[in-house]
Amino acid sequence: MQKTPAKLHLITYGCQMNEYDSERVASLLKRERYELTDRPEDADLILLNTCSIREKAEDKVFSQLGALKHLKRQRPDLVIGVMGCMAQLQKGRIQERAPYVDLVFGSPAIARVVALVQRAKQGRGPVLETGEGPLVKITAPADGPPRLKAFVTVMEGCEKYCTFCVVPTTRGRERSHSPEVIVAEIRGLAAAGCREVTLLGQTVNAYGRDLSPPTDLAALLERVDDIDGIERIRFTTSNPYNLTPRLIRALRDVPKVCEYLHLPLQSGSDRVLERMNRGYTRARYLELIAELQETVPDLALSTDLIVGFPGETDEDFARTVEMVERVGYDNVFAFRYSRRPGTPAAEMPDQVPDEVKAERNRRLLEVTARVAAARSQRLEGRTLPVLVDGVSRKNAGEAAGRTRCNRVVNFDAGGRDLLGRVVPVRIVRALPHSLRGEPVAPLEDVAAADWIAAREAVPALQA
Ligand code: SAM
Repeated sequence: MQKTPAKLHLITYGCQMNEYDSERVASLLKRERYELTDRPEDADLILLNTCSIREKAEDKVFSQLGALKHLKRQRPDLVIGVMGCMAQLQKGRIQERAPYVDLVFGSPAIARVVALVQRAKQGRGPVLETGEGPLVKITAPADGPPRLKAFVTVMEGCEKYCTFCVVPTTRGRERSHSPEVIVAEIRGLAAAGCREVTLLGQTVNAYGRDLSPPTDLAALLERVDDIDGIERIRFTTSNPYNLTPRLIRALRDVPKVCEYLHLPLQSGSDRVLERMNRGYTRARYLELIAELQETVPDLALSTDLIVGFPGETDEDFARTVEMVERVGYDNVFAFRYSRRPGTPAAEMPDQVPDEVKAERNRRLLEVTARVAAARSQRLEGRTLPVLVDGVSRKNAGEAAGRTRCNRVVNFDAGGRDLLGRVVPVRIVRALPHSLRGEPVAPLEDVAAADWIAAREAVPALQA
């Protein structure tokens, strides 16, 4: 397509799955000699990978498109494209508000990005590609330096039809990639130095139901566990409705699977959960939590909560706050309900005023900060394996990494490069957003060993 090198400016909004998709798009275009650039003014092709989950995410894209208008005016041969969820949901509005956009394509068309860009470059009117398409695993490895941690999409789509959510419209029905393709991708990542993978799906714990023969996430975790070089496995996002005893046991029994689970609750009130069409009650969610905590006592839990869902009363909201305290989450992602076109909740009566949503959001953040701080304090004095993934944000002389329960730990590495190593670190202080630690083994030993060896060297870690 492109004979001489050209420049691609790629802007990604939204979830980890979008980050993953953007990496694939960049690698497919790189084969056509598109190099990434940070500067939109240098680009021949600008792609915005978009998110529709809340109105705010869409507003950001429209304002970015507004900012790009003058570039297109100066250089009419610049190609501007909008891809991802908003392309799927808002193609009419994009054409109306930004008629200078040359290319609009949804996630099912990502594998065909090269051909689509080629068509857009011919300049015969905008190229629109937003229909359903077959699931294709793009095997092109991500561009750029090798990474310690990587996302791997294992399935696309969602069939839950929560009344607030656009995902079934933007990402289509549930389709899983085969375990063989996923394992091959992760083997490639491990060979390139990756040590931690996060398996992604909108309802990742529904993985494999659609395959023939059917399989499940627990079986996939076991297969990924066998891959040499991979040290840690995470997965997100799980839906309580699909949480099986097999998956709970996998959290305990599959060695590389970290003791961390993101389990969106959305609301603590049964009345609201029913109107959201979540498919579980508060009591069922608590039953699952009890089973999880009994099976994996060290499990860290995080959740998503929506405040101000239509008809949510003060009492409903109080039930949500109560759940945060009762479950004891390590982390909570609180969202103000956003009215999404085409979803049943957008048409429900009793929409909650913005100022009430803002106040409930503020209160929820206060409570979750207190609960999360108590969880962090429990880690003080313990020695935990930390996978070093960089340097401290505040002090470049210090190493930074994460525990298996996904907490950031900063510690003095004595000037050693421990990147990619798993280091036993004693937690000396819990701070609001991170933990302070000190290494317990001589660092020269750690630098020469992996976590398994480090665990053998430090009896306190064997428990
Ligand atoms: N599929 C997952 C589930 O339902 O458990 C979550 C995926 S969604 C991309 C991430 C979070 O965004 C949801 O868990 C929900 O809390 C939030 N969200 C989705 N739609 C929303 C809306 N209309 N308004 C506010 N928050 C929303």
